[in-house]
Amino acid sequence: MAKNKYIDIDITNLPTPSFLVDERLLKRNLKILKDVKDRTGCKILLAQKGFSMFYFYPLIGHYLDGTTASSLFEAKLGYEEMEKKFTKKKLETHIFNPSYRDDEFDEILDITNHIVFNSFAQWNKFKGRVQEKIKATGKHISCGLRVNPEFSEVETEIYNPAGRYSRFGVTIENFKEDELEGLEGLHFHALCEQNSDALENVLKVFEEKFGKYLHGMKWVNFGGGHHVTRKDYDVEKLIKCINHIKETYNVQVYLEPGEAVALNTGFLVSEVLDITKNEMDILLLDTSASCHMPDVIEMPYRPFIFGSGLPNEKKYTYRLGGPTCLAGDIVGDYSFDEPVKVGDKLIFTDMAHYSMVKTNTFNGINLPSIAVYTEKDGLKVIRTFKYEDFKNRLS
Ligand SMILES: *Cc1c(COP(=O)(O)O)cnc(C)c1O
Repeated sequence: MAKNKYIDIDITNLPTPSFLVDERLLKRNLKILKDVKDRTGCKILLAQKGFSMFYFYPLIGHYLDGTTASSLFEAKLGYEEMEKKFTKKKLETHIFNPSYRDDEFDEILDITNHIVFNSFAQWNKFKGRVQEKIKATGKHISCGLRVNPEFSEVETEIYNPAGRYSRFGVTIENFKEDELEGLEGLHFHALCEQNSDALENVLKVFEEKFGKYLHGMKWVNFGGGHHVTRKDYDVEKLIKCINHIKETYNVQVYLEPGEAVALNTGFLVSEVLDITKNEMDILLLDTSASCHMPDVIEMPYRPFIFGSGLPNEKKYTYRLGGPTCLAGDIVGDYSFDEPVKVGDKLIFTDMAHYSMVKTNTFNGINLPSIAVYTEKDGLKVIRTFKYEDFKNRLS
């Protein structure tokens, strides 16, 4: 398993653990998204929550229209590493936060050009400061309101932004028609890893409830969760949905996917450090579910490893555990055709999104290095971490 037959990149000298993102795969996704833009006139923003690998922001900005953020820091990263890096092409920096802080709002006004508010109270509170900024600088800042269609086909409740009692967006019951003055757009986000039939269904409800307010506005943002770059995604239906809204209401449509940008573009390469036995065979890896791929525990889900099968599907079955002292730091049970040896490399697939952005140094476990493969330079380690990265978050 050390000499690798699963990827065409020579990883012999790659330190482990490492996130490795393949620019060729990222470009493939970006081209699919660009095609949707070209055929509809919609704008597509990178939702940084899912993928904040700013090394690739110049590439992403070449295909897409900018970034969106959920916080001041994400907005700043998008502004500095994407919008500001382009002089000829005008890119955008959007933000949605469920509750803006007084002490961060001035900086948000400096670096963003689209601000989405989560309630009429927040809009009324900050509206004056937006208008003053526009007057003082001449810079246009377009404000929008997040609405909650109270309809979603997301089945996992922690990933359902439109479920009962959700704190996201204004429901039709709480909508205040007479406080819309100055708002230029509506935003909803009700999908998670879904196909365009789920979007079509959400749109029907969104239109019924909020369509009449969209006339006279400038834009509508369909949020994220569109799994556009997945093999079975129905792009034609997405295009129909966008064109329908654009033509009915004469508005600019935005999409802000995170996952779809980086889906299936990266790996987490780890090494087997030890093999023990307690009723079953156990592999001790140098990567941790808790620290390096927390969604495995939180979501939860089972990542794929090249060459592996379900437990007992292949001849040799192992439980895979991490280097922390948390009993539950387990990736899962996997089987292989050949016995695994200490020093073997295991390659987890689809690790570019929602892993790198969620890593932590719990138990003092170091973060994985970050590497890229590009056609121009081949394999390159672009970041490694050390003791200070752990220490600097504590005192
Ligand atoms: C999480 C999120 C996104 C991105 O979702 P993906 O599932 O990564 O596409 C976009 N917009 C908002 C408001 C979000 O909360």
